Amino acid sequence: MPAERTLILLKPDCVQRRLMGQVISRLEDKGLNLIAMKMLKVTSALAKEHYAEHVQKPFFPALEKFITASPIVAIVVEGLEAIKVVRDMLGATSGLKAAAGTIRGDYSSSRQMNLVHASDGPEASAREIGLYFKADELHAYVPTLTPWFK
Ligand code: ADP
Ligand code: MG
Repeated sequence: MPAERTLILLKPDCVQRRLMGQVISRLEDKGLNLIAMKMLKVTSALAKEHYAEHVQKPFFPALEKFITASPIVAIVVEGLEAIKVVRDMLGATSGLKAAAGTIRGDYSSSRQMNLVHASDGPEASAREIGLYFKADELHAYVPTLTPWFK
């Protein structure tokens, strides 16, 4: 089974609440490889591109204001079935509905401020990685320094 890549965003609430380390720890503990990471400010144009499927929805103006409010961290992780694995780790969209034990379930009590974005399928993953990273910014690697990796 080939490894998959997926795009993760630590949204402005995650950065402001100083939960970046907790989320990254969970991804690493799960066994995913972080192969790219950068901090950036999402512009209105990028928000509209990233959330193209939601631009016409009633919640979009508030979503755009939220996602552009302060810096985010964009991450690409790689691993077996990474797209589904990470979506399952996030839990349901609303922090009010997400199961305990998931990232959103454990840390969010909001429909909007749910801390983390992750691609929802292979097409979204390819498209979204391309929005945030150039090909030469993806640093896939095979851990070789055994036994020092976990
Ligand atoms: P997900 O992030 O789980 O893929 P969606 O793609 O449906 O969820 O929505 C994108 C983002 O828009 C959500 O993560 C959340 O921040 C926000 N959002 C979705 N639905 C609502 C809503 N009903 N009210 C406010 N914000 C919402
Ligand atoms: Mg979505």
